[in-house]
Amino acid sequence: MKMDISNFQKYLNSEAEEISLEFFQKYIINIKRIDDEETEEIKNFFSLIIEYICKSDMENASLVCENLINYNIELSVPYVILTHELINLKRLIMERLLHKNAKEELYTLYQLHLYFEDMIAKKYLDKYVIDLQNKNSLRISSLSDIYEQNVILYYKAHLEWLNYLSKSIALRDNKFFPETNHNLCTFGKWLLDSGKIIIQNNSKYKNICKLHENLHYIAKQIENYLLQKGTNNHLLLTYLEKCEMLSLSLGTELALIDNTLINSEASKDPLTGALNRQKLNQLYNNQLEISFATSESFVLCMCDFDYFKNINDTYGHLAGDKMLESFVPIAKKSLRNSDMIIRYGGEEFILILPAIKEKKAREILNKIREDFSNFILDFENYKISTTLSMGIFEINPEICDKSYLKDFENAISIVDKKLYEAKNSGRNRVF
Ligand code: GH3
Ligand code: MG
Ligand code: MG
Repeated sequence: MKMDISNFQKYLNSEAEEISLEFFQKYIINIKRIDDEETEEIKNFFSLIIEYICKSDMENASLVCENLINYNIELSVPYVILTHELINLKRLIMERLLHKNAKEELYTLYQLHLYFEDMIAKKYLDKYVIDLQNKNSLRISSLSDIYEQNVILYYKAHLEWLNYLSKSIALRDNKFFPETNHNLCTFGKWLLDSGKIIIQNNSKYKNICKLHENLHYIAKQIENYLLQKGTNNHLLLTYLEKCEMLSLSLGTELALIDNTLINSEASKDPLTGALNRQKLNQLYNNQLEISFATSESFVLCMCDFDYFKNINDTYGHLAGDKMLESFVPIAKKSLRNSDMIIRYGGEEFILILPAIKEKKAREILNKIREDFSNFILDFENYKISTTLSMGIFEINPEICDKSYLKDFENAISIVDKKLYEAKNSGRNRVF
C-alpha cells in the first residue's frame, strides 16, 4: 500500500502522545480482564504503531499492528472489540483533523483505517476458520458419544457441511463448496422426509426449516462472493460467524426435541411423576455431550424439601406423600417441555435445564421455589405448607472441563455443596 502521509504526520505528531493515552484508557475500560502486565504490553504496541505512522514508516507500523492483532487473538479478545477500538482511535484522530480543517489528511486517515481494518479482519478470519474446524471435530465426536442416538444425530451432517464451507473460505475457492440448496443437502433431505414425521410439533418444525433455509441462504451469498473473487475479509468473517451460529441453533433445537420425547416416553416414578433415577446418569451424560456439540450451556439443579421430616412427624407419612406429589405439577408450570425433573431420593429432585444460562435458570427456579412455598395442601383438617432449597450449577462448554464433568459424581458434588450452603444460610433459597 502506498500513501503520502507527510502532512498527516505533521498534524498527528504533536498530539500522538495524547491520542495514544486517551485511546489506551478506553481500551483498558473495555478489556478489564487482562492484568496490568498485559495492559502495559498493549500500551507499548499502540505507542509503537502511532510512532511509526508519524514517521511514515508504514512497513514497521504494519508489522507492529500485525503483532498487536496476534496478541489480541491469543488473549481471545473478540473481533468486535478490537475493531471497535480501531473505530475509537479513528474518531479521536478525526476530531483533531476536522478541528484543523485538514481535508487531505482526513482522506489519508480513511485509507489507513481501511488498511488496518482489513488486516484485522483477515487475521481473525484465518484464526476463526482453524478454530471452527477444531471445534467442529470435537462437536462431531461429542455427538458420537451420545448414548441414545436420536434426532440430534441428524445435526452431524450439517457440522460436516460447515467444515466444507469454512474450508472453501480458507482457500477462497469454490472447489469444495457444500450443497447450497437447502432441500438437497443431507440434513435437508432428512428434514423433508422422516424429520417431518419425527418432529411432531408443527411450530418447532417450521422454526427448524426457517433456520436451515437461512443458513443455506447465507452460504449461497458466500458462494456468489467467492465466484466474484471478492476479497472483503470482514464480510466473509461475518457470514461465516452467522453460519456457525445458525448451525449451532439447529443442533440446539434438535436436542430439545429429543428431551421432549424423553419426557413423554420414559418411565416415571409412580408417586411424584418425575423421571426415574435409573436413567439419571445417562440423561446427564447425554446432556453433557449435547452441550459440547452445540456450544450451549445447561444448568444442573439439586432440590431438597426443607424440614420435610417435620411434616411426616406432625401430620403423618400420607400427608408427606401428598406434599411430594404436588411438586412436579408446580415445577412444570414454570419449566419448558424439554426440561427434565428426576427423582433423586426421598424428597430430593434433580433438574436438568438444557440450553440455558445460569441467570435465566435462577429466575425460573426461584419462581418454582416461590410457587411451592405459596402452595397450601389441604389434608384432613389441616392446611400444610413447606419450602424448598436448591443448589445450581451452569455447565458452560466454553469454560468447563469436560473430562472432569463426565464423572457424574463430580457434577453432583458441586450442586450438593451449593444445596448445603442454601440450607445453611436459612433454607427456602436458590444457591
Ligand atoms: P432439611 O431441611 O435439612 O432437608 O430437613 P429434612 O427434614 O427435609 O431432612 P432430610 O432431607 O434429611 O430428610 C428427608 C425426610 O424425607 C426423611 C423422610 O422421612 C422423608 N421422606 C423421604 N422419602 C419420602 C417419601 O417418599 N414419602 C414421605 N412421606 N416422606 C419421605
Ligand atoms: Mg433430603
Ligand atoms: Mg430435606
